[in-house]
Amino acid sequence: MSQILLNPGPVVLSERVRNAMLRPDLCHREAEFAELQNTIRHDLLKVYPLPEDEWAAILMTGSGTAAMESMMTSLVPDHGKVLIIENGVYGERLTRIAEIHHINHQTLHHEWDEAIDLKLLEDELRYHEEFSHVAVVHHETTTGRLNDLAGIAKICKKYNLPILLDGVSSFGAEDIEFEEWNIIACAATANKCLHAVPGTSFVICNRNAFEEMQATPQRTLYLDLASYLKNQDANSTPFTQSVQTFYALSEALKELQEQGGQRKRKQNYWDRLNIVREGLEKKSIHALMQTKDCSCVLNAFHLPERIDYETLHDALKENGFVIYAGQGSLSQSIFRISCMGEIKEEELLRFVSIMGGIV
Ligand SMILES: *Cc1c(COP(=O)(O)O)cnc(C)c1O
Repeated sequence: MSQILLNPGPVVLSERVRNAMLRPDLCHREAEFAELQNTIRHDLLKVYPLPEDEWAAILMTGSGTAAMESMMTSLVPDHGKVLIIENGVYGERLTRIAEIHHINHQTLHHEWDEAIDLKLLEDELRYHEEFSHVAVVHHETTTGRLNDLAGIAKICKKYNLPILLDGVSSFGAEDIEFEEWNIIACAATANKCLHAVPGTSFVICNRNAFEEMQATPQRTLYLDLASYLKNQDANSTPFTQSVQTFYALSEALKELQEQGGQRKRKQNYWDRLNIVREGLEKKSIHALMQTKDCSCVLNAFHLPERIDYETLHDALKENGFVIYAGQGSLSQSIFRISCMGEIKEEELLRFVSIMGGIV
């Protein structure tokens, strides 16, 4: 039985995206592949939209974490230092990447349920002149919090610090003001708000982002963004790409455009999440945060005291719905609902009514 996935990616595919993967087999060294790759790179820049002479979409085969790791390893020079803002699993993952690759960094830690403290950020930047970059997660999927990028960016701009953004669970749906927010790179993936399949991820990169990297030895073979960029600009690829997932992404980007683009998708997601929020509230299942602090992509809910997560999950799965657990210390206190992908409002109404029967 096919399941309705309410987890934050992979998503329920549309038939046209699924069928796109059945297109003819391709060699990644042939002209047809170069054309496919160019189309995707072009269409990705159209999502926000960004001028092609200043920005590049750099494609790789791997999940969203590959894009995060490539961004961090390829853009922070040895003579630089990145301030990593943490308020959840993914901010902490950025730090883990910096540790593993011996990238100069410092963390600005917050608990998982906290909003980023802008005053603390400002103090950190004011008293430490050595920073060259700030890295932060846009939508912290751990809790569903949409971090205040406008506020963070205002401070970063004052200190002339470019932002490395983990936009893995926001690209394609949330607003991202690349230029206004001083973003020089944004890591993202095909299988979340873009509604394609896992296997392709990418970094949207300002072409100037590499300027400071000349004196820094290459840190990774497979994830080196400069090599991908050089090859892709020359209609090539350094390594075999996942051709079928490229087909899916290309089709999903066409579908996004036809459906009205990023802003429309954001509105759709809110319409869907509001059905869930209002429906669950009526059954006394409360959202973790107010709407104004949440992303349109995923909201977290307090687990009702009378049921544990596994029981709830299994009962919903029997009815065709897959929900998502909290991570780490939140695993027994919250559950998460995402409404990305090909989901109809009737199905969400059915979900809410089934929840009512279980809890
Ligand atoms: C999903 C996600 C990632 C990437 O996770 P993968 O398991 O590699 O797909 C990174 N950052 C955020 C904020 C995410 O939601």
